[in-house]
Amino acid sequence: MGRGDNIMATGLARDAAARGKRIAFGDGRRITWDQHSKEIFRGNPNIAPPGSESNPDLEWIDYRTGHRIYNRLDRARRRWIWNMDFRPVPGELFFNEHELAWAAGVGSGFVLMEPNVEAFKTWASNKRWAADRYDAVATRLAADGAEIVQFAHGDHRIRCARQVRAPSFRHAMAALARASLYVGPEGGMHHGAAAVGVPGVVLFGGFIPPDVTGYAGHINLTGGAKACGSLRTCAHCRAAMDRISVEEVVSAARQHLKGRGMKERFEFIGNVPEKVRSLVRPELVDWIEREDFPVFGVKTPLGEVDFCRRPWPPRADMVTTIGSEHDVDEDRLIAWEQTL
Ligand SMILES: [Zn+2]
Repeated sequence: MGRGDNIMATGLARDAAARGKRIAFGDGRRITWDQHSKEIFRGNPNIAPPGSESNPDLEWIDYRTGHRIYNRLDRARRRWIWNMDFRPVPGELFFNEHELAWAAGVGSGFVLMEPNVEAFKTWASNKRWAADRYDAVATRLAADGAEIVQFAHGDHRIRCARQVRAPSFRHAMAALARASLYVGPEGGMHHGAAAVGVPGVVLFGGFIPPDVTGYAGHINLTGGAKACGSLRTCAHCRAAMDRISVEEVVSAARQHLKGRGMKERFEFIGNVPEKVRSLVRPELVDWIEREDFPVFGVKTPLGEVDFCRRPWPPRADMVTTIGSEHDVDEDRLIAWEQTL
């Protein structure tokens, strides 16, 4: 199975520990993990590892390689048959302090874009939206003031994106958790975005139905196609992807960024700029100018606003956070958020 399948498993296991249980993934006799399970399940108290089959706290779910629950293979026609009754629950990832510290250095409030689809799958082309359209979306959102970030892997690099090389998939997910929005294909990254609570614009196309692997917090674009599940390169999927326009993706992205209150980052050297002054109380402005913290974030009921002095991105040890109660004039902040 893929990383996305394992993230879906963490959704199936949600809240088990709260019931005093752990979920055993397997056929009822043997716990079956695949090559990604250990990485995705690390630190997860809801899931029992292989070797714990005889423990009394297990609840079995027969979800494993060859038995994904949300689909089954039609061998003769080389396609997936989707289980239209399946609805995914957002998964969970439990990060350690090193992963979180690294992620803090990536920044926050950016739009994470992923144009690449892992090419080893025979159906990869059915999930791929054109690279030049990702470029066009990135350019438009950057013009709106969004920072575009891409994890540096795969063939296509978005020109205006800051390239970030993540030490592992888990590190990438910890950084994704700090994004305002994910834009990219259905797959490990979109399951990850749901797991870390980040909204998404997900390019589904005609391969897989959003009913089966899509999340309520995401805008899922199909190009109007009925999903075929074809494991071969498919003209119907190509046409579905081609029908999803740059305009449609940009406006879906803007809907998220506007509706949720886009995280904003202020960079400055020396005195606090006027826009920051208008957001926070005078005592806080004094504090910013007096203290030597290069970066700090203010958590608000509507999200997080980052103020930063150079350099950007900050090192993890430069980041400090102050609470919302005493530092932010919330009425003014809310008024400002509403203008976005
Ligand atoms: Zn198709």
